[in-house]
Amino acid sequence: MADQTVEWIRRGDIALLVISNPPLNALKPTTTIELVAGVRRSEGDPGVKATVLIGANETFIAGADIRQLGGPSTPPGQRATDLIDLGEKPVVAAIDGFAVGGGLEIAMACHGRVATARAEMGLSETLLGVIPGGGGTQRLPRLVGVERALDLILSGRRCKSAEALKLGLVDQVIESPDELEKAASAFALSLCGKVQTRRIRDMPVSGTPDERARLFAAARRRADATKGGNRHALHGAIDAVEAACGLALSEGMLREQHIFGTLVNTVEAKALRYAFFAEREARRVPGMPASSVFPSAQRAAVVGAGTMGAGIAMTFAEAGIPVLLMDVDAEATRRGQERIAATYMASVKRGSLSSDEMSRRMALIGLAGSYEQIAESDAVVEAAFESLPIKQKIFSILADCTKPGTLLLSNTSTIDIDLIAAGNPRIADIAGAHFFSPANVMKLVEVVVGLSTSATTLARTFELSRKLAKVPVVAGSCDGFVANRSRMPFQTEVQLMLEEGASPEQIDRVMMAFGYPVGPFMVGDIAGLDIGYAVRKLSAEKDPNFRKLPIPDRLVEMGRHGQKAGAGWYRYESGSRTPQQDPVVAEIIEQVRRERGITPRALSDEEVLHRPLFGAVNEACRILEEGMAVRPSDIDVMWLHGFGFPRQHGGLMHWADRIGASAILRQYDHWAERLGPRWSPCDLLIETARSGQPLCDTPTRWHLQHRD
Ligand code: NAD
Repeated sequence: MADQTVEWIRRGDIALLVISNPPLNALKPTTTIELVAGVRRSEGDPGVKATVLIGANETFIAGADIRQLGGPSTPPGQRATDLIDLGEKPVVAAIDGFAVGGGLEIAMACHGRVATARAEMGLSETLLGVIPGGGGTQRLPRLVGVERALDLILSGRRCKSAEALKLGLVDQVIESPDELEKAASAFALSLCGKVQTRRIRDMPVSGTPDERARLFAAARRRADATKGGNRHALHGAIDAVEAACGLALSEGMLREQHIFGTLVNTVEAKALRYAFFAEREARRVPGMPASSVFPSAQRAAVVGAGTMGAGIAMTFAEAGIPVLLMDVDAEATRRGQERIAATYMASVKRGSLSSDEMSRRMALIGLAGSYEQIAESDAVVEAAFESLPIKQKIFSILADCTKPGTLLLSNTSTIDIDLIAAGNPRIADIAGAHFFSPANVMKLVEVVVGLSTSATTLARTFELSRKLAKVPVVAGSCDGFVANRSRMPFQTEVQLMLEEGASPEQIDRVMMAFGYPVGPFMVGDIAGLDIGYAVRKLSAEKDPNFRKLPIPDRLVEMGRHGQKAGAGWYRYESGSRTPQQDPVVAEIIEQVRRERGITPRALSDEEVLHRPLFGAVNEACRILEEGMAVRPSDIDVMWLHGFGFPRQHGGLMHWADRIGASAILRQYDHWAERLGPRWSPCDLLIETARSGQPLCDTPTRWHLQHRD
């Protein structure tokens, strides 16, 4: 049968149940039925002593098909897991690759688990706004205890076999995947006659009620403080694990299913699933070849050892890639190295980095004194001053000195890649790799393609970014590219609202209540207000109609550059990062209002939230109209990973769809009257409002179809 996902194979005393649904053996609804049939066949075959569950395609089961979440599910009591675990003959899971989500739940229903050293296991459902729904919250605490079960379920992290063995999650680890079937079969036979002692359902959860109560209380406090956008799922998971401590497995499974049902179709869970698929979709760029066909970078260099260059060099070192750092002279290069050492040292002092790991990373960061020394690099990232002549010169030297095929990437945040690459003999190898600040922390890399950037360069830049544990998203080379361009109206509105009557404290509070980890003014103080000041100065030089922002300009001119200066939008006690309201800032705001003849008014929290975000939605629509982004969800991925947009809202465009384009448009009309022509909606927003289609369904108008 073409759709068959489980094959029953007899090997002497053993029946093998081989699960195959390439590439990762995701569970289909029919897989469960086939597993039930397979286990029944083994039970009924007198020649079979034990069954081994094993995956084809070098993996066990990478969970249920997420697209089917929210659909009908098999009730507890009739699931494959019930039958496996209650059977008379041993069933052992042979785990290679991934046993994640529903895959690990099936493995835990077995009487034993043998894994390869490279296998990884986890229950990642809470990251998608739900809880494990196949008995995971009931069996895991029985098997590994409440503390470890909470850690795995609430973090959603995967653990490797060595850790799983220590936890008691697996019984045996073997080095070679070739030996897996044999080892699992031998282990299964060794369990003959001992099945009853191996059923996790009958195991008590360890610890005293008091000890467990303390663990649950602490977990609930952490769940309340989460910044992951999945607070409801975390609380649901804690409730379910708590149920495992007091109820028999069958009753606990009903409780788990009930909690799952209350979560699966919530706004939060839908947004988290949307974000998950948006991230996967962003890896598909029209015309981009599969990145896996290219060798990955083994050696890299960074030209410009300032704020960004230092951060980018750190990401290379953290990915284990040797990198050479280079600036205008030895002194500037050494300052970059010192900046890196100081950042790592602060982490060592905080206890978030070991000094061994710091030494390992520092050893991977070398210093180069000339371009000849970086000639053999597989990738060079330029992070020098934001100046076209400087960048053109650097790329012209790089074109001469680097070996053919070296990726030549610019971290520019504003300059057209086509201008940087114009006339360069290696034009096809040049692209933008726009890291966000701080580069060693923020996950987004906007991969900016110029008109002459080759499809190979695009694919290799994606591959490199992923190797650096970043999230690459493609963008066209327009002013501000996609991420910053779509965010510009957000920044502007936030400032104009201050002039009209809002305060930094109100705006930060509203944005944090929406789910941002910190408000925009706090972010400004962390990043440094002098950067925006310099950008505004340049913009004002280029555009005589540029709307000046006197409040932040005045703060910078007073030396209030942010946290580093002890003052910015807020005041900071020496050595503290806690923002304190500062009457000096309120006075500056008042001064500017008086000068501009503005009578301040109270802005509602709704206006404070909607104005910056609605402004950004319109610009995002313009970007899509121009074909500068491939799809709306790419913009959402940029907001999630470049600007800390709250994941429980999915992303800017997903959030806008919940409000609806027509409601946004009505608000635009109203604001256009009151606030002026910057509130003119673009055609795409108008069309979408008229059609009633979601913004996220906007068909692609991507301007480049790459071919080599
Ligand atoms: P920075 O001023 O901190 O560092 C720039 C470094 O480049 C300096 O150390 C300087 O000595 C060096 N440099 C100048 N000319 C050079 C040359 N010809 N050869 C080698 N080194 C040279 O600036 P930054 O904030 O790190 O920004 C660097 C680039 O990254 C800019 O293009 C900027 O637009 C971009 N960027 C900055 C941010 C940010 O938030 N700072 C974010 C994204 C992108």
